[in-house]
Amino acid sequence: MSITNLLLSVQEGKLLDQKDAITLLNVDYDTNDFYRLLSAANYLSRTEYNNKGLVFAQIGINAEPCSINCKFCSMGQNHYSLPVTGRKTIDEIVLELDLLLSSGINDFFLMTTADYPVDDFMNIARVVKKHLPDNIRFVANIGDFDRSTAKELKEIGFTGVYHINRLREGVDTTIKPETRINTLNAISDAGLELYYCVEPIGPEHTYDELAAEMIRARDYRVDVMAVMRRTPVKGTPLFEKGRISAIELTKIAAVARLVTRPRRAMNAHEVTQMTLLAGINQLYAECGANPRDTEAQTEKSRGFSVTQAWNMLWEAGYDSTK
Ligand code: SF4
Repeated sequence: MSITNLLLSVQEGKLLDQKDAITLLNVDYDTNDFYRLLSAANYLSRTEYNNKGLVFAQIGINAEPCSINCKFCSMGQNHYSLPVTGRKTIDEIVLELDLLLSSGINDFFLMTTADYPVDDFMNIARVVKKHLPDNIRFVANIGDFDRSTAKELKEIGFTGVYHINRLREGVDTTIKPETRINTLNAISDAGLELYYCVEPIGPEHTYDELAAEMIRARDYRVDVMAVMRRTPVKGTPLFEKGRISAIELTKIAAVARLVTRPRRAMNAHEVTQMTLLAGINQLYAECGANPRDTEAQTEKSRGFSVTQAWNMLWEAGYDSTK
């Protein structure tokens, strides 16, 4: 089938398979098909999401060496690259949350490294939940867990969890894919909303690998989908492999939008203006530590602010009323 017909069939509701996804990922930038692909993803987001832009915010609540040792992460314990270690106090977290809320956000994420004690996380989350207006979704981004933890997250008031099977899980990380899948199933069984992402994409990943994660996300019926390119962090084992370009990320985002068919939002990370022409309607603002930064307060470095995110959505013609 030609690319034009394949894209038309998506607009008519056809679900793409892995082979279709790989065909689209192989479209060259210097062809008209490339712009047809971006256009199809853009059209779906503008129409299915009523042209509504969304801003999510995340606070990383600790900066500590992590035993999972992901080869791309600044906090892997064998190559820890942040200048400090520490955990935010509940007062610090609430203060940051209030600042984020005053700028207008839709969903709020609390993130820890994988070793953070889950009981401490739950205690912090209980307090945070009291400060969060009911219309703002509350999302956990933590290590792997079982069904009873998923149930507890739900009871505390979390509406969703960000969790993924990373690219080359078990090779570039020390977690087995089965462990990830068990957690994904626990999230789903507990009735929590799963937030998914194809990440962290580097130049060495094949289109087959990317397509497999897009289909997995669709199988879990995610409403919020994302793609993220790997940021080469100096000192991490994968630093030398470099990064993919913004135009490549834009193409991958467009294909993920068409393959996964998320019902509420599509994101590409880190924030790249070009992707907003390819169906991206949601951006992240970030505070605290994160795996892509060598600063413990990413808001002073790589992190995007809520106001910057709303402005970029406005620039792209999205409805940016909060
Ligand atoms: S990406 Fe997450 S799990 Fe992996 S080393 Fe970093 S903090 Fe740990």
